[in-house]
Amino acid sequence: MTRRSISILGATGSVGEQTLDLIRRNAEEWQVEALTANTNVAGLAEAAREFRAKVAVVADEGRLGDLRDALAGSGIEAAAGRAALCEAAARPVDLTVAAIVGCAGLGPVMAAIEQGGTIALANKEALVSAGEILKAAVGRHGATLLPTDSEHNAIFQCLAGNRIEDVRRVILTASGGPFRTFGADRLANVTREQALKHPNWAMGAKITIDSATMFNKGLELIEAHHLFPVGLENIEIVVHPQSIIHSMVEYRDGSILAQLGPSDMRVPIASCLAWPQRMDTPMAPLDLPAIGQLTFEAPNETVFPATRICREAIAEGGAAPAVLNAANEIAVEAFLARKIAFSTIAVSVERVLNQGELPDAPRTLEEVLRVDEDARNRATRMLELV
Ligand code: NAD
Ligand code: MG
Repeated sequence: MTRRSISILGATGSVGEQTLDLIRRNAEEWQVEALTANTNVAGLAEAAREFRAKVAVVADEGRLGDLRDALAGSGIEAAAGRAALCEAAARPVDLTVAAIVGCAGLGPVMAAIEQGGTIALANKEALVSAGEILKAAVGRHGATLLPTDSEHNAIFQCLAGNRIEDVRRVILTASGGPFRTFGADRLANVTREQALKHPNWAMGAKITIDSATMFNKGLELIEAHHLFPVGLENIEIVVHPQSIIHSMVEYRDGSILAQLGPSDMRVPIASCLAWPQRMDTPMAPLDLPAIGQLTFEAPNETVFPATRICREAIAEGGAAPAVLNAANEIAVEAFLARKIAFSTIAVSVERVLNQGELPDAPRTLEEVLRVDEDARNRATRMLELV
């Protein structure tokens, strides 16, 4: 059996570690090329040694010395900085798992696309900020995008063997997050600790806060719009608190196909690792009688305006989604640093979007990064974080 080569961008995060967990169980099938992290040198070096990676890259340039020390004697190459991150992502591999959080992943995702391999994309912010540009690059370089976000992976699976023209509706399911039943009054003063407790999923801090505000579902709406060309008006969000159905596709004959599974990211990650085949995962099979009920509700956009704001941004097009994403990243960081209230997140994102003229539609990656930087600065000033 020939081993498949793999790079994991964001190897020390929640998605990265779950990917490594699956690789560990089938170690003889994989050759690890590059592993990357932001600042966690110890975690990165440990994974690089265990999986005999060829190169380990830390984004923080100041930590190159630490990384070299941690890898001493291993024969593993050490590198640091943003350019090194993109260079590592550009090395030809069979599969790249793009699991960096935020627009910081955009350059590396583009580099991975340009080497023409298959990319398992978890990094939704990259697609939100630069969807058109990334899709054009996928076409130009003959790359393959496999959606790894659980909902998009579910939709991808439900589309297999069908024609996109026959789709009537894509139904994106949402857990509703920890505050699903809250009114606006109670929501205003929720704490960081409450917001970091997701009822169904264990994930990184940023996406956990996004799940609580419903910006996660809004970003996923934009993500779905780029991945599945069925028309924005045909993508519907339905709250499904049990997180067992990960999304659905309705066809014009009235059939609805759904993908079900445990709320464990290793399922969609495994589906990308093995695609177009299947592989074993260690989780217990779903016990449907124990689950008992699957319920559905309409989202409440009065209390949680994020999905409306995202829908409007994608309808507006141009720079709006990149501005929205940047403003949200700044607001989430500020909330995590206890500098702003929970309900200020959505208010500030909408204000940044409505403040003056939006920049021109970005046509290149560099232009997206400029729009992103500018929107971050505006959000920072608006929230008086400086
Ligand atoms: P995380 O915070 O746990 O990990 C993020 C990873 O990215 C880490 O390895 C970190 O070192 C790296 N990173 C962070 N900032 C960086 C920077 N500026 N430059 C370079 N590297 C950087 O995040 P996560 O929960 O694993 O999420 C990763 C992505 O996957 C996000 O886009 C998220 O929306 C998406 N996603 C995550 C889950 C989940 O269950 N965690 C589910 C669906 C989608
Ligand atoms: Mg998701």
